[in-house]
Amino acid sequence: MAEENINSRDIPNPIQREVRQRCGFGCVICGMPLYEYEHMEEWAQVKRHVADEITLLCDQHHREKTNGLLPKETVYEANKNPFNLREGLSKPYNLHFSGNEACIEIGGNSFTCKDEGYGTAMVPISVDGTPLIGIVLADGHFLLNVVIFDEFNTPVLHIKNNQLFYSAEPWDIQLTGTNLVIREGHRKILIDFDFQPPNKIVINRGRFLRNGIEILVRPTNILITNNSCLLSGNHAHNCHGGLIIGHHEKPIGGFFGMQNIPRYLGNRKEALKFEREVTKNHQNMT
Ligand SMILES: [Zn+2]
Repeated sequence: MAEENINSRDIPNPIQREVRQRCGFGCVICGMPLYEYEHMEEWAQVKRHVADEITLLCDQHHREKTNGLLPKETVYEANKNPFNLREGLSKPYNLHFSGNEACIEIGGNSFTCKDEGYGTAMVPISVDGTPLIGIVLADGHFLLNVVIFDEFNTPVLHIKNNQLFYSAEPWDIQLTGTNLVIREGHRKILIDFDFQPPNKIVINRGRFLRNGIEILVRPTNILITNNSCLLSGNHAHNCHGGLIIGHHEKPIGGFFGMQNIPRYLGNRKEALKFEREVTKNHQNMT
């Protein structure tokens, strides 16, 4: 059907994305990463989905607008100059992790640890002294730390002690339910996290980048394209370090350490071919 069903309240995906990009992936008033799509003019009157007429509001600001406590004019003003674009970063959102056990699944490999009462730290992935994913367990606190870099080595998303915030630079960022996806372009996923509070995080898809290292995460394996290293089905328990790549001033004992690894010039094509062959053989065997 060429004509869009104007009676449907469902906003088509491309229009939603355009609104997210324009609003900096957060409530235009306060920057909160949890938001709703709001027709600035009442839906009952306009009955159409035009990206320019839709904005993002968090629960609180949406309710305030509905109740008449937040004037329409203020929403229009904020929509022209959204919080996250003004600040350069989203408002931090606190993830609700807790407990004394942690499980991080990355491409079918699992990293688990248990706090035995004296505090425990676990670093599943670290490159050149920068933990890309790390966890601290202490006194029932579960603190998740993540930093995601883009192709230009610029951090685009942080989780610092459970506080999630991001820049408005990426092409798309979407937190839907427990699922956080950052895209670099159409159908180009940079990272796909599934937060499973109280104590689990699953990463089924992603591309960890840092200083010329590229770590690809697929549902069943991790591939380091620089040296065609493929990790599949590993389980590390109470192992301080996981995949530890490059130079670390304070050495981290890891179950998989790689100090010398080619940067940037790693043969990505060969690595992808190797991955295809190995996973094909694996499928044939099972
Ligand atoms: Zn808000």
